[in-house]
Amino acid sequence: MPVEVKPRFVVLYGSQKGQAQSIAEGIAEEAEQHGLVADLSCLNETTKYNLEKENDPVVFIVSTTGDGEPPDNALQFVKRIKRKALSTDHYKHLCYALLALGDTNYANFCNCGKTIERRLQDLGAKQFYATGYADDGVGLEVVVDPWLEGLWNAIRGALSKMASDRTAHLKVNTEDSAEETPDSSTPDVQISLLSITDHQNCESVGAAVETDSKFACAASSVASVVSDLRPASPAGSIGLASQCHGTASIPTSAPKTQAGDVGVPHVVLAASLTCSLPPLSESSLNVPALPPPYLDVSLQEADTIEQIVGPLNKETLHEVPVSKAVQLTRGDSVKTAILLELDISAYPMMTYQPGDSFDVFCPNRAAEVDNMLSRLGLQDQRNHLVNISLRKDTKKKGAQVPSYISQNISLLFLLTWCLEIRGIPKKAFLRALVEHTGDSVQRRRLQELCSKQGAADYNLYVRDPSLSILELLTAFPSCSPPLSLLIEHLPKLQPRPYSAASSCLTHSGKLHFAFNVVEFPACTGRPMGRRGLCTGWLFDLINPSPVFPGKAESSNSPALPKIHVSLRPNCSFRPPSDPSVPFMMVGPGTGVAPFIGFLQQRAEERQKNPEGVFGETWLFFGCRHRDRDYLFREELEGFVSSGTLSHLKVCFSRDDREDEESAAAQPRYVQHNLLLNSQHVTDILLRQNGYLYVCGDAKNMAKDVNETLLEMIKTELQVDQLEAMKRLAGLREEKRYLQDIWG
Ligand code: FAD
Repeated sequence: MPVEVKPRFVVLYGSQKGQAQSIAEGIAEEAEQHGLVADLSCLNETTKYNLEKENDPVVFIVSTTGDGEPPDNALQFVKRIKRKALSTDHYKHLCYALLALGDTNYANFCNCGKTIERRLQDLGAKQFYATGYADDGVGLEVVVDPWLEGLWNAIRGALSKMASDRTAHLKVNTEDSAEETPDSSTPDVQISLLSITDHQNCESVGAAVETDSKFACAASSVASVVSDLRPASPAGSIGLASQCHGTASIPTSAPKTQAGDVGVPHVVLAASLTCSLPPLSESSLNVPALPPPYLDVSLQEADTIEQIVGPLNKETLHEVPVSKAVQLTRGDSVKTAILLELDISAYPMMTYQPGDSFDVFCPNRAAEVDNMLSRLGLQDQRNHLVNISLRKDTKKKGAQVPSYISQNISLLFLLTWCLEIRGIPKKAFLRALVEHTGDSVQRRRLQELCSKQGAADYNLYVRDPSLSILELLTAFPSCSPPLSLLIEHLPKLQPRPYSAASSCLTHSGKLHFAFNVVEFPACTGRPMGRRGLCTGWLFDLINPSPVFPGKAESSNSPALPKIHVSLRPNCSFRPPSDPSVPFMMVGPGTGVAPFIGFLQQRAEERQKNPEGVFGETWLFFGCRHRDRDYLFREELEGFVSSGTLSHLKVCFSRDDREDEESAAAQPRYVQHNLLLNSQHVTDILLRQNGYLYVCGDAKNMAKDVNETLLEMIKTELQVDQLEAMKRLAGLREEKRYLQDIWG
């Protein structure tokens, strides 16, 4: 009898914020519906997989972080496969597919995925499915969804080919060694592999036809929800829903509502978070598979629960007082920028270098936690102990109790310090929420928002305005998810990094940083604007009395607010080690912060070594208005007077220009000033072995600066775009073109 073996493949992920992990988990979960078995591991779980001996297809899902770095949990893997000692046929047995996640707003788009792919190919591995490069800048799903759709056939094809290669190989071996005693179990397994692969191919064709026929049927009569290649869920047959909540609508006889729904049918005048327009409102939907629940959560009354104040893992954090707060912008500035000084003198081990950044640990807002508790109907249990365990019957592959949630914490602590309750609900979360939504119209809208057909609405109403789960629950009042679902789907509350804006040589025992108070405007689903979580919290912490330039410091106040911080490792965003090398800094807005540290350090070095040779320093700064948001103006002008800063190039994007002619000649943004100084910039970079640092907004500025540099190199060296790109990539590799960007 042949042994019934389900064809197997391997899924490996490297993930920084959980996106790659959740896609990998989705693949592993869906595998069963395709008659396959997936072995899921994180790339750092080296005892769980062995690529050196892997004979089944391997699917990599990897993200990229920072300046093109691998995620933390893929670092060792990338290091391992980059070893020069590996031979060119090291992975010749390996068949792989790769999905790379990245963001074109940042340098080195999908660099980790590209690096892994390049190495796999160098080492002889064969690709069985074209690599996907998904861009978070425009929405990962644009690439991820079709890539996932094609993956299953590709895996089956790869399995089939690998099995037949093995059969052929074995046949040759058997013929070659006809006299040897055959291994009695081998032929059965081969036959089984082949037959099951073929069987799966048939099944998949069947499933696809079924899906199509559901579409056809839906198009000709009522709309229905079609779950991707899986049986319809309990909520899977909701019909048309053109009603909306809280938005103007008028009755019509045209759209039908599901039988039994209360209320009159409506026609929607404008689409919003809670209602859609045709064709979406009349469309069949492909919704993601329902994520299997995997946590059991219970609340337990506890008399003596320890009241923890502040984040956990205090051993690795430092609680430091805010010794000074200065508003750097004028009251009428569009953005509010604040400088905070932390007193780190109690922690001598907290030494930092210019260019370093550190993490600030902030809690969720008390009002939002309260709101969430009442939304969950758990206000009275806020001080109960939260018990979390894995569901015994869970179908989720690789399910684990989140490591960042420790034992013995209260519900209040969980919602305050552990979960990002501001997190933008992902599509899988929306899909799961459908099951806990009573009203059929709201259910249908949630299905639309997580469906393939509703991708544009998801971007418009959820992703782009950064809608939080709380805001979503407010807009969908009949949705009552259990606490376990929130824990399963909400990401870890992450600390926020900030760049040091000081040198400890100038400010001994102190650490400065500068930030803009992030503002989220009101939008559909958010009646009132709100501030960024950390910047809003810091702003409230120092209010009502931030110290304005020229006024007395608040350090005399008796109760200085304290915050938890920890230093982040950094080894490249540092001033050149050789002081004679020239360097240029591009830092508009709060992007100037690390360069204040660079320049303070340079001033100290010059003072200590007046005879020393110091290279030229350039700073390109930009803001809206000279008199409203020119951050660190006095200090920067002081650096120029003392000769610490050789060239300060400042531009103002919104100041009135006197006449059209002079306006045209005036630089508006930092890249325009770079261009005006093209000769110097290219000379420093290409001939003097100098450095260029860029810090600040990732979305526009860093990209524009990059484009400008390319243009400058093209003109200066008389080369084409490709060659210019190579030169810039070379500068990056030499760590002479460095970015520290965010946003
Ligand atoms: P959240 O509630 O987390 O909302 C952030 C969201 O707001 C983002 O998803 C984005 O869509 C949007 N957003 C709008 N404007 C900004 C903006 N200016 N920055 C980030 N997100 C924005 N910020 C500084 O102001 N000064 C610094 O010196 C600084 N250094 C950083 C260094 C590193 C290495 C990194 C990765 C980030 C740095 N940031 C810095 C960004 C900072 O960590 C936070 O992301 C930012 O302050 C917003 O945090 P929040 O909790 O208030 O906003």
